[in-house]
Amino acid sequence: MPTQKLRAGILGATGTVGQRFVQMLENHPQFEVTALAASDRSQNKPYAEACTWRLVGDMPAAVRNLPVCAPEPPLDCDFVFSSLPSDQARAVEERFARAGYPVVSNSAAWRMEPDVPLLIPEINPEHLGLIEAQRRNHGFGQGYIVTDPNCSTITLALALAPLEAQFGLEAVAVTTMQAISGAGYPGVASMDIADNVIPYISQEEEKMEREARKILGHLEGTTVREAPVRLSAQCNRVGVTDGHLVAVRVKLAKPAKIDEVRRALQSFSGAPQQLRLHSAPERPVIVREESDRPQPKLDRDAGRGMSVTVGRLFPDRVLDYRFLVLGHNTIRGAAGAAILNAELLVAKGLLGSASQLSFPVAESAALR
Ligand code: NAP
Repeated sequence: MPTQKLRAGILGATGTVGQRFVQMLENHPQFEVTALAASDRSQNKPYAEACTWRLVGDMPAAVRNLPVCAPEPPLDCDFVFSSLPSDQARAVEERFARAGYPVVSNSAAWRMEPDVPLLIPEINPEHLGLIEAQRRNHGFGQGYIVTDPNCSTITLALALAPLEAQFGLEAVAVTTMQAISGAGYPGVASMDIADNVIPYISQEEEKMEREARKILGHLEGTTVREAPVRLSAQCNRVGVTDGHLVAVRVKLAKPAKIDEVRRALQSFSGAPQQLRLHSAPERPVIVREESDRPQPKLDRDAGRGMSVTVGRLFPDRVLDYRFLVLGHNTIRGAAGAAILNAELLVAKGLLGSASQLSFPVAESAALR
C-alpha cells in the first residue's frame, strides 16, 4: 500500500456516474480527487458552478473549487477514472493511456477489445494479465485501460460466477427491470417512464450477452477464452430511480440441490475480500429468504451499495433454477465497480509505482 494517496482524475465528473465517483472518493484512504473533466459546457468553471449536485448529502468541500477541465492529457493526476459517454470515451481514453495514464473506465468503448480486462475483482482478477499484451499491442508505454462491465451485467455476473465455478452453466435466460438513473441525467423523459415500462434499452441486450461470457471466461496466454454458456437477455426500463433488478433462469452443467445452489451464492467471495480492499463488501452476494425480496428501495444499498441481493430462489420447470438479483447501478454497477478495480490494481502493484506518480501539474489547475 502506498503511504501517499494517488491523485485521481475523473472524466465525465459532472454526470450521474461522475458524481458518484466524487461522493465515493471523499475520504478514500488511497485516492484523492485532484482533477475533474467534462464537456465544453462545464469547462473552465469551478466544479460547484459546473455541476448540479443530484446525490443525497452535500457536494464534498474538497472538490467545490476544482476547475473542470477538458478531458485531455495532461491532467493533474496519476490516473483517471472515466465515465464519459461511449462515443467520446473511445478516443479520449486511448489518448490518456498513450500519454502514460492508467485508465479505469466504466464506459463501453473498450470493454470487448481482446486485450482489455473486463474486470470484476471477485470473479476474474487474473484477467489483469492482459495488461502487458495491451501495452505492447497499442504502444501504451506505462499507460493502460481496464474496464468494468455494463451495470446490469455486473449484477448478473456476480450471481452467475459462483454457479459457474461450482456447477458449470449451460444456459441462462434473463429479464431486466432497470432503473432510470442507468440512462444518465436527465435520462428518459418523465412523460415516457411514469405509468410505463419501456421494453428497449439501446445495445443493452447485446452487451449483457457478450460481456457476461467474457467476464466468466478464462485467461489463456494473452487472450480470454469466453465461457461457452448460452445467454439470452431481455432488457426493460422501469420507473425506479436506482437499482437494477434482474430475473434469472439457469440451466446448470451438473445437477445440484437447491441448498447447494444457495450455499454457493451466499458463500461467494474473492480477491477483494481476501485482500480486504477498502470498497469490498463483506459479502458480494446476499441471499434473502423473504418471499417479497429483493426490492430496489430496500436492498440497493446493501453492503454500502457494493453487494448484490438474490431472492426468490426456486427450482424452475423449464430450466433448473430461477431467482432475482438486484444491484445498485451507479455504485456496484459503475463508480463503485471502477473504484474497486483501482484498489485491486494498487494491491497487484499495477497502479501507484514510482513511474506513475510523476505527471506534471496541468496549467488548468490554476483555478483551484
Ligand atoms: P451522464 O449523466 O449523461 O454524464 C455524462 C458525463 O460526460 C457528464 O460529465 C458530461 O459533461 C460528460 N460529457 C458528455 N459529452 C461530453 C463530451 N462531448 N466531451 C466531454 N465530456 C462529455 O451519463 P452517466 O450515466 O454518468 O454515464 C457515463 C458513462 O458511464 C456512460 O458511458 C455510461 O454508459 C456509463 N455507465 C453508466 C451507468 C449508470 O448507471 N448511469 C452505469 C454503468 C456505466 P457535461 O455535464 O459537461 O455535459
